Amino acid sequence: MDIKNNILETIGNTPMVELHKVVAGLPCRVVMKVETFNPGHSIKDRMGLKMVLDAEADGRLKPGGTIIECTSGNTGMGLALAACVKGYRCIFTTSDKQSKEKFDILRAMGAEVIVCPTNVTPEDPRSYYSVAERLSKEIPNSYWFNQYDNLSNRQAHYESTGPEIWKQTDGKVTHMIVGVGTGGTISGTGRYLKEQNPEVKIWGVDTYGSVFKKYHETGEFDEKEIYPYITEGIGEDILPKNVDFSIIDHFEKVTDKDGAVMARRLAQEEGLLLGYSAGSAVAGLLQMKDELKPDDLVVVVIHDHGSRYVGKIYNDDWMRERGFLDTELRVNDLIALK
Ligand code: PMP
Repeated sequence: MDIKNNILETIGNTPMVELHKVVAGLPCRVVMKVETFNPGHSIKDRMGLKMVLDAEADGRLKPGGTIIECTSGNTGMGLALAACVKGYRCIFTTSDKQSKEKFDILRAMGAEVIVCPTNVTPEDPRSYYSVAERLSKEIPNSYWFNQYDNLSNRQAHYESTGPEIWKQTDGKVTHMIVGVGTGGTISGTGRYLKEQNPEVKIWGVDTYGSVFKKYHETGEFDEKEIYPYITEGIGEDILPKNVDFSIIDHFEKVTDKDGAVMARRLAQEEGLLLGYSAGSAVAGLLQMKDELKPDDLVVVVIHDHGSRYVGKIYNDDWMRERGFLDTELRVNDLIALK
């Protein structure tokens, strides 16, 4: 019989799928690590489980304890999966720019969700970091995982995502490109791949409004780089400990519009219904066209499923209100005009 003991055993071993139409302008093959096949529909299931296991092992998380985390949604889902199976309470702080679907999914898993303002500094007592930290001090037998600085995050990808990519490409991968938020995915996966072959190029996708690219290129933490943006899950106004800048070869910034438009193309042209940052990753790769050669094999690692964005990038009105939709009128509008 092939029966898993519980849902946590289904995390990882996700498929890789080749892209065709959206990368037609590139000289080489491009394959995607489709992390939506994880049970929580995102790559973050891997690090959610790893953070829980490591915290249990050294006693930071105790039986009957409360898991506290600041999350844009996907890490919360990964932690919630582990919490449901293992019997922990979850309290998540999140920011009000994230999709409503993400809060609803966390609540569906039994978690308590506190929505905090996005446009405040990380030190502000109202920020989702500060509220998580305060709750962890107030609630007995609780533990704040802090995915930004908790190195179990990148270790999860060093132990699973990296080896899977190496094996699935028969060691032929030449480039990996992925969106960067906490930095766990790029740093853990990238370190594993570079250890196998130091020639593998590791490219991070950043947003306009985030500090990563400038810090990587100049060593300067420039507050002028910080301003509001719409893309979810990538870019930061802090430097998380999980970002290992030494293994990242290049950061490419992608606009809110280009990420959203590419996500819609991935759904409609490749049948891949993915999250906003998946669109940003592929759009960033197209911007890097001149760096690629015919024999290259690019792996795009994506983070989450498109169902979390049906009210946003997959909604024509939402796209049009932001000037992201080039086609002015839909069929329904034309009928209404008659
Ligand atoms: N995309 C999405 C949708 C995410 O939720 C995250 C995590 N914040 C990322 C990309 C970035 O991943 P990482 O935190 O591992 O850098």
